Amino acid sequence: MSRLARISQSVKSWVYPPLCAGCDVPLTTDRQLSSPFLCRDCEDRLEPIGDNYCRICGQSYEGRTPSRFGCVNCGGRELVFDFSISAYRSSGMARELMHAFKYGKRIPLSRLMGNLMTKVWQDERLHERSLWLVVPVPLHSRRIRERGFNQSHEIAQEFIRRSRTIVGGKIELQLFPALKRVTHSVRQAQLDRKERLTNLANAYACKRSLRFPEKNDFGVLIVDDVITTATTISECAATMRSQAEISTIAGISVLRG
Ligand SMILES: [Zn+2]
Ligand SMILES: [Zn+2]
Repeated sequence: MSRLARISQSVKSWVYPPLCAGCDVPLTTDRQLSSPFLCRDCEDRLEPIGDNYCRICGQSYEGRTPSRFGCVNCGGRELVFDFSISAYRSSGMARELMHAFKYGKRIPLSRLMGNLMTKVWQDERLHERSLWLVVPVPLHSRRIRERGFNQSHEIAQEFIRRSRTIVGGKIELQLFPALKRVTHSVRQAQLDRKERLTNLANAYACKRSLRFPEKNDFGVLIVDDVITTATTISECAATMRSQAEISTIAGISVLRG
C-alpha cells in the first residue's frame, strides 16, 4: 500500500468510520486495509475449506479423504473443467455476508469477497500457469438490470487486485469477461433428453468480440460467488472450450454450498 493510498484511506475512515460487516464494530485503518469489512473475531467465525477437498470438483470433506471413498458430488459425472477450488464453506456468517452483498446490494462488500477468495492460492495447481484469464460467470442482462451488478464480475476484479500482493509478478491475471448468459427460448419440456442436455449446455455463449491472447500457454479461471454442484462451472468451461484449445480450466469461488 503506497503512502498516498494509506493517507487517502485514513481520511476516508475519519469521514466514514469503517465498520465490521458482521458485527458493526469500528475497524482500525490497518484492519480495513488488510481485511476489508471484517473484524478479527468475525473472520475467525468463518469456516475455511481447508486441505481436505475433492481434487476435481472441490467438494469439501471433513475428517476423511475423498479419494478413498470416491466423491459424492462428481463421481461418475463428466465435468468439462480440470479442477475447482473454493475458499470457505457457505454457512453462518459467510452466507449472511454473501447475501448482504448480492441481495442487499452492498456492492463495496465485493472487496471483502475478493479478498476472502484469495485463499484459493493455497492450492499449488494455481501456481503452475504464468497467465490466467479470469472469466466471471455471467448473469443474464435482465438479471443485471434487476440487481444493478454482476456479483461474480465484482468479485473477480477484487480478486485480481488482491492477488497481486500474493503472486507478485510471477503470475499474470487478466480480467476476461468472455461469456454471456443467453435466454432459453425453447421450453425444456418440449425437448427429448439429448436436446435437453444441449439446451442446458447452451445457457452460456462466448461474446462475439472475444479474442484470446497470442500467448497460448494461458489457463482459464472461471469465477463464481458460490459453487454447489459445479454444473455452472462445467457449462461455462464447455462454452470456452468450444471456442479455443485451452489446456487448463479451473473454477474458483468464495463459498462452497
Ligand atoms: Zn465483526
Ligand atoms: Zn468431486
